[in-house]
Amino acid sequence: MSVWRLQTGGTVLAGKLALERGWAINIGGGFHHCSGDHGGGFCPYADITLCVKMLQMHELVKNVMILDLDAHQGNGYQRDFLGVPEVYIIDMYNRHIYPNDKHAKQAIRRRNLKAALKEFHPDVLIYNAGTDILESDPLGHMKITEEGIVARDEFVFQICRQQNIPIVMLTSGGYLRKTAKIIADSIMNLHKKGLISGKV
Ligand SMILES: [Zn+2]
Repeated sequence: MSVWRLQTGGTVLAGKLALERGWAINIGGGFHHCSGDHGGGFCPYADITLCVKMLQMHELVKNVMILDLDAHQGNGYQRDFLGVPEVYIIDMYNRHIYPNDKHAKQAIRRRNLKAALKEFHPDVLIYNAGTDILESDPLGHMKITEEGIVARDEFVFQICRQQNIPIVMLTSGGYLRKTAKIIADSIMNLHKKGLISGKV
């Protein structure tokens, strides 16, 4: 089985685990350029769409929020959920790089998490936590420091945990050798701050 398929299964599993335990992290997944009928940009499977649809189909959730802080626009799931009121999409990205999908962009409801949570209460939040916003990332072209990424993840987890919103984190894009270490540091920080518990 390809690594892509394992990561896709991991996202679906993380969705179920987050509902049971409050949080789950898939060290992979976040193929946000792939929609149900079309692949794109290193993304062969629509894991985010699959996860949302699986949870809704089994009536485990009704309202879903997708928060996408990868450097690229998440046009795949945006095309799948354009005009779907139960799926609230927040996406912040570098608009000067791939994919600049103007049609998909219409699905984005806001760019401010706190404001969004005042008008929509999700049963689960899918956090696409790409690390390609890091300074010197060859594909993201942004200037966020390592500390900035750790602080970003902490901010998102803090809000979800405070408001009792189950959170699924997907690691998505990141194209430097040191990316893996930053993800590890961030997860250790979440643990240290008591935002993810050790018990399974
Ligand atoms: Zn990206």
